[in-house]
Amino acid sequence: MRRGDAAPSARARLDTSRHLALDDAMRARTWYSQWPMPSLEAEAIVLRHHPLAEADRIVVLLTREQGKLRAAAGGAKKTKSQLAGTVEPFNHLRVSLWFREGKDLGQVHGAELIQAYPGKGLDLGSVYACSYFAEIVNEIAPDGQPNPVLFRLLLASLKACALRPPTPALVRYFEIWALRACGFVPDLGRCAACGRPVAGEGFRFAVASGGALCRDCGGKAGAGGVPLGVKSAEALEKMMKLPPEEFMILPFGQTTAAEIEQFARRLLVFHLERRLKSYPLLREALQGGV
Ligand SMILES: [Zn+2]
Repeated sequence: MRRGDAAPSARARLDTSRHLALDDAMRARTWYSQWPMPSLEAEAIVLRHHPLAEADRIVVLLTREQGKLRAAAGGAKKTKSQLAGTVEPFNHLRVSLWFREGKDLGQVHGAELIQAYPGKGLDLGSVYACSYFAEIVNEIAPDGQPNPVLFRLLLASLKACALRPPTPALVRYFEIWALRACGFVPDLGRCAACGRPVAGEGFRFAVASGGALCRDCGGKAGAGGVPLGVKSAEALEKMMKLPPEEFMILPFGQTTAAEIEQFARRLLVFHLERRLKSYPLLREALQGGV
């Protein structure tokens, strides 16, 4: 500043900085407009992929921010592509995606691996379990609807599979929590017919009845539905409180395991209206057949 010049007032300084900021913003906008900008930065888990063209794939992602999304991964099958080996099933990623207005299919602009699941050196059972979890999520999650509980469940269950081989308890945990995250598990604490608490006495569960039925109401309804004894009811309560890596190592008797399996399978098939392709292989692995 030359001697004698008046110092600019605080207001003038503010105006100047505002104009500079606007100029910068205008320049930035002009520069960036030459490039397609990612319209979504997201944390994602790859549920599945299928071929699109010779070198491209369509990937189905469960994102923490926007739920289930589909995007084309250009060059994902080329070994030199940045996306090759990254947008693979069960991988936990940070992705940037472009979406054209009105289009459901996005495009993967970039992907950075956070963690690959189930990890190297683990048994086939872990791979089958990850496939089964991803298939359930792919079937149960509607497109474009964020479901943070489902995202956390999938991530925690993949991590559990990386720690140790999956157990039937982990599979039941995933099935029932996935259904619950999507609002498909009714209140199991009270009888759906008379409202009596059923904790401590077990109950009968019929999908069509819309919930648990106490001994009296379950008896009146006939022999339909799945009986869940006291131990099974207790196991379901624990399932709601524990993380998957703790629940998966709890010891359950054969009857309890069979009752919970029947309960989870009936509920799952009823709500998905189809059988899941990856389940038979997983079941065989859990029974020691693989
Ligand atoms: Zn009742």
